[in-house]
Amino acid sequence: APRNPAHQASHVSPSFSLRYTQNPNPGLSRVAFVCNRPSDAARICFEASTSRPLQLERVRHELDGVLFLQGGATTQFSSAPLNLCNSNDSADYVVTGSWSDKAFKEGQKYCNAKVVWNGKAAKYTGLPSQGDLSLTPGAKFLHICANETIHGVEFKDYPTPQGETLLIADMSSNFCSKPVDVSKFSLIYAGAQKNIGPSGVTIVIVRKDLLGSAQPITPVMLDYKIHADNNSLFNTPPCFGIYICGLVFDDLLANGGLEAAEKRNIEKAKLLYDAIDGSNAFFKCPVDKAVRSLMNVPFTMATPELEAEFIKEAAGQGMVQLKGHRSVGGIRASIYNAMPKAGVEKLVALMKAFQARHTS
Ligand code: PLP
Repeated sequence: APRNPAHQASHVSPSFSLRYTQNPNPGLSRVAFVCNRPSDAARICFEASTSRPLQLERVRHELDGVLFLQGGATTQFSSAPLNLCNSNDSADYVVTGSWSDKAFKEGQKYCNAKVVWNGKAAKYTGLPSQGDLSLTPGAKFLHICANETIHGVEFKDYPTPQGETLLIADMSSNFCSKPVDVSKFSLIYAGAQKNIGPSGVTIVIVRKDLLGSAQPITPVMLDYKIHADNNSLFNTPPCFGIYICGLVFDDLLANGGLEAAEKRNIEKAKLLYDAIDGSNAFFKCPVDKAVRSLMNVPFTMATPELEAEFIKEAAGQGMVQLKGHRSVGGIRASIYNAMPKAGVEKLVALMKAFQARHTS
């Protein structure tokens, strides 16, 4: 049973039940997907905001493919094209950082993949607007990475594919950080390890009408229909990891769901970005303000030596893993759902003290 009594059971399928309640705002409905595993060990809560009841019906009808898989998001770089297109189909990729670039490179093996926008020249510090995309007419899908973990760019508005083109998103590093209108996507995938549970568990949300047309070479373990037909129990699932995800979903629901999570995440990110922007350029965040990530905050200082000293001091205070990814350097604070506001406040306090000591 849902923890939140406001949620009304409205539809039950073997793989998940869909519960929704009217939002107090007129015309806006809240939807939560709760996936009931046979053992009741795993439960996925995924909320969507929809603006019209009609859309709510569409979501309810089409989204029956909530899968708990293995192999991380990297495996999904292959599974997505293998399941959703033929080898000669065109597929468009928006390359906004390391992860979408990896998805594109893997996609090239299984379809006619094309980059429709590439942020590399600007060191992946921005995102395209709709008009910047040179979309391929008839492309089977348009792939985006909703949040580039290493570069700290996050889509606030998603691109709109043309015609029948399907929208696919890698949401590994911002899954369950905020409400998402699931009805916009044909496929969402996410490695669990940022916001929902142990690495290895991988969530896939696929439109059920897309199941069953995998390429003939698709390994059985990558075929969404096989997993959907077997209720994610085709082979031995990573039970312990899925159990932990269930506990995290319970905790999310008990603490106000995704809307409240988003509020907390906005507050935390603002603290950090304000500290960076108010530092008189002692700290600098290279990312366009409009698309800065709520989850991953990269910043730099005047020299690599100063950055190394800062990272060492932070580690001395128990704040670890602040070194930017080896491909970009600098500093990166990952402030996922589990990071409390107090953790960000502690980092900001160190930044201020460090700056005061290093400016005359
Ligand atoms: N996509 C994004 C956005 C990521 O942050 C990561 C890294 O964790 C991956 C894909 C790869 O995920 P995994 O390590 O689960 O294969």
